[in-house]
Amino acid sequence: MDSRGYVHVYTGNGKGKTTAALGLVLRASGAGLSVYVGQFLKRAEYSEHAALALLPAVKIEAYGAQRRIGAPISEEDIRQARLGLEKLKEAASSGKYGLVVADELLVAVRLELFSEEDALSLLDVRHPSTELVITGRYAFPGILERADLVTEMKEIRHYFSQGVPARKGIEK
Ligand code: ATP
Ligand code: MG
Repeated sequence: MDSRGYVHVYTGNGKGKTTAALGLVLRASGAGLSVYVGQFLKRAEYSEHAALALLPAVKIEAYGAQRRIGAPISEEDIRQARLGLEKLKEAASSGKYGLVVADELLVAVRLELFSEEDALSLLDVRHPSTELVITGRYAFPGILERADLVTEMKEIRHYFSQGVPARKGIEK
């Protein structure tokens, strides 16, 4: 596959950003593309790891623990996120993958685990034939300018505000 790839950003405060990215992983994998998924601020306990393990052309890695905005960030959080960004850059630049997903990259920037410039370097190194999907709330202007496709998930209503926590198989 050597046709041109594009950069997607799935952002906004409504549900569906990571789900949309994983849906694209499913479609790409069905079409025979190799896929790499890197997830910031998550551990491999998310159910997509068990599902994608069944797909030989899909590799998924999670880079670290969930942190809320305002909660203290450790040196270890920063180290893991930066290591993750390097892995994503390697995957995106290698030309080996038809699709690369950087899940919650925008949240990692918001938490200052690395800079906006560091995040944009992922776009700089992308192999021209690799499709790159970036997700997370808090898209910053610089990345919106660089993306070829931007979708904002807008919350109209979410059961989270009624106290429903993230559920296995639905949110995690
Ligand atoms: P999904 O993974 O289901 O597609 P998403 O990627 O669009 O969701 P994120 O912004 O990554 O959503 O949200 C991660 C978690 O934040 C959700 O699992 C949910 O439990 C929680 N959450 C959802 N809505 C809110 C909200 N309005 N305020 C705070 N937390 C929320
Ligand atoms: Mg998400």
